[in-house]
Amino acid sequence: MSPRRPPVTVPVVSASTRVPVELTLTAGRRPAGRRPPRHLADLPLTERRVAVTALGEPAFRASQLSRHYFGRYTDRADEMSDLPRASRDALAQALLPRLLTAERELGCDDGTTRKTLWRTYDGALVESVLMRYPDRVTMCVSSQAGCGMACPFCATGQAGLTRNLSTAEIVGQVVAGARLLATGQVPGGPGRISNVVFMGMGEPLANYASVLAAIRRLTDPVPEGMGISQRSVTVSTVGLVPAITRLTAEGLSVRLAVSLHAPDDELRDTLVPVNRRWQVAEVLAAARDYTAATGRRFSVEYALIKDINDQAWRADLLGSLLAADLAHVNLIPLNPTPGSKWTASRPAAQREFVRRLEAHGVPVTVRDTRGREIDGACGQLAASAGP
Ligand code: SAH
Repeated sequence: MSPRRPPVTVPVVSASTRVPVELTLTAGRRPAGRRPPRHLADLPLTERRVAVTALGEPAFRASQLSRHYFGRYTDRADEMSDLPRASRDALAQALLPRLLTAERELGCDDGTTRKTLWRTYDGALVESVLMRYPDRVTMCVSSQAGCGMACPFCATGQAGLTRNLSTAEIVGQVVAGARLLATGQVPGGPGRISNVVFMGMGEPLANYASVLAAIRRLTDPVPEGMGISQRSVTVSTVGLVPAITRLTAEGLSVRLAVSLHAPDDELRDTLVPVNRRWQVAEVLAAARDYTAATGRRFSVEYALIKDINDQAWRADLLGSLLAADLAHVNLIPLNPTPGSKWTASRPAAQREFVRRLEAHGVPVTVRDTRGREIDGACGQLAASAGP
């Protein structure tokens, strides 16, 4: 493998944010696969103390540095005036490397939905979306560059897996959103991130260790982490049953969402190919166990695809499968990927689907289509950005 070439980084001002962001110009793509540089968000606070001590600094500097990153959302040495100048430069360089550079920023809904396309240190592209609602701010994050699950209706799935993201690369997406909000750069005044959903690129449970550590960093209180409530974090999965079982044993109170998309194995085998390994009944059994252990209702995600999975009989079958459960169905009007032969269901079919689920006593919501103009739903920005 060729030695890694350092990226050329130039400060630019993003038109949409009017704040300086770093645009990294890379001379072609470097091979992926190496571990990203170590960052304090990869480590629990105890290990940050060890790392700080190894740099010849007193251990308490780990908390100071962590407060800056997790509490004030900065990784810039010049914004850390409580640290001696010489120490802050060395510490920031060693423990707060810039892992993600904003390649492109898109906004819609009067600026309250903002999508960022990030370039990683090794040239991979990932995205995150911030959505501000009157009562909450949700950050949708990526857990992998690309995805290996190959769901045919999902743009990310069609591109394949590049690599897992590190814990700090996942957390960094949320910290960046928190910084935008805290500094009043999202319309509605200064605010905080209230919810995080692992619904960006990637299959979070296929990157288990990094995602679990990211959940801890996001939800542990400052200075250990960012202090977001576990109940406000949602992990969305294609249904990797052993990993759901492992998550159940962690004793967390995060919300579990399973991407079902079909109530019958015959169709689900094609829409969610991993169904050939873990079928509908096993996925639902694992989700039920999660709910039994946590007391939290699980969600079923179901992208409504015209004439593919939106028939009345499938609504009835789904309703009967879930009737006895503490579950909730989130219907997602299909966001067609470029060149796809599939489209969203007709409104009448969607309404009938909702009605039949409700007739079985199953709570249903239809996801709003926020960010659709900026391909906010499913990895299309990264897919269309090209190399
Ligand atoms: N790998 C995780 C996260 C994927 S993104 C998972 O499968 O759950 C979050 C949700 O968006 C998933 O339910 C996914 O199936 C759905 N999705 C992907 N592409 C979509 C599209 N084109 N239209 C509507 N929903 C889509």
